[in-house]
Amino acid sequence: MSIGDFAPIRPARLHWQDRTPVATDYDDPYFSRQDGRAESHYVFLDGNRLPERFAALTDGDLFVIGETGFGTGLNMLLAADLFLARAPAGARLDLFSVEKHPLGADDLARALAAWPAPDGESRWATLCDALRDQYPPASPGCHRLWLADNVSLTLMLGEAEPLWRLCPARVDAWFLDGFAPARNADMWQPALFRALAAHSRPGATLATFTAAGAVRRGLREAGFRVRRIDGFGHKRHMVVGERSEAGDPPWRPATLRRGTALVAGAGLAGATSARALAERGWQVTVLDPAGIARGASGNRAGVVYSTPSPHLTAQNRFYQLSYGHALRWLRRYRFPGHGQGALNGVVQHYVDDKQSAKIRAAADSGAWPDTLLVAGEHSAELRGGGYLNPPAWCAALLDHPAITVERRTLGGLRPGTPAVAVLEDGSERTADAIVIATAGAARDLEVSSRELGDLPLKRIRGQVSYCRATAASAAWERARCHGGYLTPALDGLHCVGATFDLHDGDPAPRDDDDRANLAQLRQYLPDRWAELGGDAIEVVERRVGFRCQSTDFLPLTGPLPDPDGDGSTALPGLWLNIAHGSRGLTGTPLCAEILADRISDAPPPADGPLLEALDPGRFLRRKRKKLKVKS
Ligand code: SAM
Repeated sequence: MSIGDFAPIRPARLHWQDRTPVATDYDDPYFSRQDGRAESHYVFLDGNRLPERFAALTDGDLFVIGETGFGTGLNMLLAADLFLARAPAGARLDLFSVEKHPLGADDLARALAAWPAPDGESRWATLCDALRDQYPPASPGCHRLWLADNVSLTLMLGEAEPLWRLCPARVDAWFLDGFAPARNADMWQPALFRALAAHSRPGATLATFTAAGAVRRGLREAGFRVRRIDGFGHKRHMVVGERSEAGDPPWRPATLRRGTALVAGAGLAGATSARALAERGWQVTVLDPAGIARGASGNRAGVVYSTPSPHLTAQNRFYQLSYGHALRWLRRYRFPGHGQGALNGVVQHYVDDKQSAKIRAAADSGAWPDTLLVAGEHSAELRGGGYLNPPAWCAALLDHPAITVERRTLGGLRPGTPAVAVLEDGSERTADAIVIATAGAARDLEVSSRELGDLPLKRIRGQVSYCRATAASAAWERARCHGGYLTPALDGLHCVGATFDLHDGDPAPRDDDDRANLAQLRQYLPDRWAELGGDAIEVVERRVGFRCQSTDFLPLTGPLPDPDGDGSTALPGLWLNIAHGSRGLTGTPLCAEILADRISDAPPPADGPLLEALDPGRFLRRKRKKLKVKS
């Protein structure tokens, strides 16, 4: 079901002519049958003068390439390869490419196999491996991959025009690479050209293989200056151009923001934020009086899962995209290791007809591709998900040379450049960015002597019960969700969770809550309950945590809004990453990536509506809008 600009993705249908993939629906090859790699190099890299522009970059520069038509990824991989050869390691390349019909993983691998690495050259093979390993599921919206430490690729799956219109990137060089204009009009239409012009930095360049008159006219009308030059091989012409208006300065790359960051909170939100910042060149200090993952992120086991829905609202897209993103982070950091969990799929047992209908509709509509979700009659499988030990994951993330963890309490904050953190003993620390990742405790913080008490947060008490494994249960391999969840044994204990108590601030564990957890297990998974010991199940340990949720169930990720403003102004230097509810394992990697890019002045991997859905200023904006309507 499509919502606004987002619809389920239909993968590419293609056939092969020797080693060249041909799109069946467009009857056009993905690249030239003669020498696709040489043609891509000539048209897109040389056409945008990338060899000399990359060579002139210095540390801290950011270069963004935008593409229409990702296809096999050949152009983007060639650009990444050239960047790694020419640019300094301290510069960053962000590739943004849109694709309506992504290739299946096998077709992608077959297409890339046509381009063996030059002798003795491992860089190309490493880039191709990175793309194959992280290739995203066919779900609509933005997927962020890292092809190298300083080269990101954001694949935007869906229709080109809305996705470029809603994209946060500002582009330095464009690759226009739809199929031939006569067969693929959507990729050469005026509305798309206008979106590209609006997302161009001053002096941005473009290149395309076609010299069709309608394309040249359309680009000119959108504000590009274009000209024909010699085409590749037997092709007479191609087109290059610039986006610059009278009075624009000559093109120069954007600069990344880097500096010192303080992150309050060493749970999942804090650890992922700290890691994402450290990898962008920030020096990060994490403050937490209790140490690593001692709050709601401190359970012995958690489940990486999501809640499928056929409706592609921003909220549901966040659940889906963050799930895929979390799996990419986990693979990238090779987590979980031995004894820390496994990513071998999660079984979701339907609790009622409504849930069963919703999950099955998510699969049937294609909103959730079958690489992520297989829906059966009584249960569904969330592919790639699993269970893991969250404190070990947080510790792995914080193990980075640019991150220091200190057992200190943040008491107050003052916005500014730099911003100021006031610690429990009254001492002060300054930082270029301060990230509040303290879940519900964010409300107790004083910002310029004013409490953040009016943040729209709920604290939800949850108790988990750790049950001793039996000979039968020790063989369980996969995490299972029903009303609650049940994990395979870690260190001989299964985690059975969790209760859900709003308006209950009691930190002490209760026998009644263990009974409630086991009763729920018995109700939905009676066989597992019996294998675990039935009435003789031994609860060895239990733990209470407080999840923090917002009133619209989405995290608050972005700048801290000025409480006296209308939601569009932020307090300088102060950022929020809170309200991950019971989905911290799934949601925090994407939120950290978005936040770290926003702090670094780099384009985040999310479309405008998704960024708005996560932005902490949204509640103030809604409030002001309501007041306006009333008055
Ligand atoms: N740049 C690619 C490469 O390096 O392999 C080749 C791109 S191929 C010539 C054109 C691509 O545009 C195809 O993958 C096709 O599915 C995609 N495409 C066609 N119409 C589209 C649309 N309306 N929105 C987004 N992508 C589209």
